[in-house]
Amino acid sequence: MNDQTQHIKTVPLLINGQLVESKGSRHIPVNDPATQEILATVPCATHAEVEEAIESAKAAFETWKDTPVGDRARLMLRYQHLLKKHHDELGEIVARETGKNLEDAKGDVWRGIEVVEHACNIASLLMGETVENVARKIDCYSITQPLGVCVGITPFNFPAMIPLWMFPMAIACGNSFVLKPSEQDPLTPTRLGELFMEAGAPDGLLQIIHGDKSVVNQLLVHKDTPAISFVGSVSAGEHIYRTGTEHLKRVQALAGAKNHMIIMPDAQKKHVINNLLGSSVGAAGQRCMAISVAVFVGESRRWITEVRDALANVRPGVWTDKESAYGPLISKQAKERVLRFIQEGKDDGADCILDGSKCEIEGFPEGNWVGPTMFKNVTTDMSIYKEEIFGPVLVALEVDDLQNAIEVVNANPYGNGTSIFTSSGAVARKYQHEIKVGQVGINVPVPVPLPMFSFTGWRKSFYGDQHAYGKQAVKFYTETKTITSRWFEEDIDTGVNTSINLK
Ligand code: NAD
Repeated sequence: MNDQTQHIKTVPLLINGQLVESKGSRHIPVNDPATQEILATVPCATHAEVEEAIESAKAAFETWKDTPVGDRARLMLRYQHLLKKHHDELGEIVARETGKNLEDAKGDVWRGIEVVEHACNIASLLMGETVENVARKIDCYSITQPLGVCVGITPFNFPAMIPLWMFPMAIACGNSFVLKPSEQDPLTPTRLGELFMEAGAPDGLLQIIHGDKSVVNQLLVHKDTPAISFVGSVSAGEHIYRTGTEHLKRVQALAGAKNHMIIMPDAQKKHVINNLLGSSVGAAGQRCMAISVAVFVGESRRWITEVRDALANVRPGVWTDKESAYGPLISKQAKERVLRFIQEGKDDGADCILDGSKCEIEGFPEGNWVGPTMFKNVTTDMSIYKEEIFGPVLVALEVDDLQNAIEVVNANPYGNGTSIFTSSGAVARKYQHEIKVGQVGINVPVPVPLPMFSFTGWRKSFYGDQHAYGKQAVKFYTETKTITSRWFEEDIDTGVNTSINLK
């Protein structure tokens, strides 16, 4: 160990209500993406620690499942209050470890807070249904009950919002939870866990286990983890969905994206350009809702040069620089991957009309910078079109009419989000009806739905059949029981029912 690493903090695990140092011998550095300074190291939890976390979550579940729903809602009320109080602090932690600019980082936290607010309303969300007299003097009703120890595996790009998509709803439903956050930015989820304990969460309700795929694999095959929520890349998502379902678990996996913006010639050019800038290169393109393909329909192709010129003025920088539009990529490997795609695009014959591959930011020579990049003359068989690049790279396609645009989007392997810019209601209506994609924006960039709706995805962007975010999360994290009941009037006469001693 050198002098620098001796002072580096090790990220703790959260087991049974205590922040504890892992006994694991393998540690992964958490780097500041703008400087490569090591902010902390994250341990890979040992097999025994994962076991202990699951055991402790099982014990917590036994009490929590019978805790009155009002008390569960009150925990969420206290938690949302604390998250709001610490909003700035959390935003700074996100910014420091992801490199996102501060506004973006605080937005990440805020979108998570909205889910906790939604969980405060858990009693109404859990309500079952009743029909009286399904047969003569027989009633039928349903109740929802929690599953047990639920698991969440989350990606690096929203270290606050995505963990908060999962554990507050699962826990409000009466479950306990084991979270395995991204090993690339574990400081934010750890702080979220600390605040959850401060809000009064009983010990063991939320466990945070760090590590990489070996930890995930243990959670996937464990006999006591009935439900797995995952958000991340397609390759990991397919593995998690296959392994989890093979072990007969309930799994949902939200995966990668290649989101198209359709630009109709009747759209307002200034709105197209403004919205395209933020949604294509904002957060360095590291959003599952980023627009990575602009489909110029008919005469709108004349705007390609203006889009390029506007993108050329977008400047990345460090999170403390209020003027910077976006930050560095999360890691050196992520940057190399994006540069590889840019090179492949050139080799495949696409026109690189804006090349950010040699981006430098004064004072930060080690940052994972990639400047705004744009390609035209792209065909749908090129890797820059087919693959998710996850960088500030915009690909321009040109098609003749709306029907062609719809066919292109529907043929893409991903179906996470899309948007259309047009001034025609009829065009927008046709698009929303015919497009086979989860989230659709009309004259807005791809929207992340508020939690009273659900986040979805088609084709390779989503595996599973229920949505563990927002409204439908209650269905994912609970089981429904349908009860058919009949009471005999003779019993009332004899008072048999009232004399039963339940204790
Ligand atoms: P990732 O798949 O590399 O990692 C996500 C999580 O899975 C991490 O916790 C990681 O430790 C774990 N993991 C990675 N490989 C694994 C494996 N082989 N086996 C078991 N576990 C594994 O994703 P990332 O790079 O952190 O995040 C970016 C990806 O997430 C992009 O593809 C993006 O589109 C996607 N994403 C999707 C959504 C959505 O809602 N659809 C939202 C955010 C991000």
